[in-house]
Amino acid sequence: MLQVDLRELRHGPVPISGQVPPDDPLFEGLGVALLGPVTAEGDLELAGPGGYYWHGRFHGLVRATCRRCLAEFVTGVDQPVEALFSADPELQDDPSVYPLTEPITHVDVRPALREELALGVDAFPVCREDCRGLCPRCGADLNSGPCSCEGGELAP
Ligand SMILES: [Zn+2]
Ligand SMILES: [Zn+2]
Repeated sequence: MLQVDLRELRHGPVPISGQVPPDDPLFEGLGVALLGPVTAEGDLELAGPGGYYWHGRFHGLVRATCRRCLAEFVTGVDQPVEALFSADPELQDDPSVYPLTEPITHVDVRPALREELALGVDAFPVCREDCRGLCPRCGADLNSGPCSCEGGELAP
């Protein structure tokens, strides 16, 4: 459940648990190549008057392109989330707060999931820490061995 009825929150924290499919409009325009659903979990609880706090994590699989060797690879995103939702008009301009608009009957954590996913995906992924990348001269993939440029045959 990623939308929580406020009445349930009066009795204490409500578990957050749900999956959003990769082709959901929620993720449109993020430029993240999801390979499966994004799973969100944690708890939602009251945080002062008109405030609600989701703490938990989310995870999913994305297709990434190595910035060194340009190979495509699959990588996991697994991030903690701490998101504050508020109906307080004084907090509506605070970029760290997700605004709730009247009439408020539910807290929907999905806008936070979208934003945290965008932040959580590595903008400059590498397929592995020691990826050797491509030769800047001949473009050979140096992970599969040295290219013929190596060994001193430098162009003048
Ligand atoms: Zn690589
Ligand atoms: Zn080379």
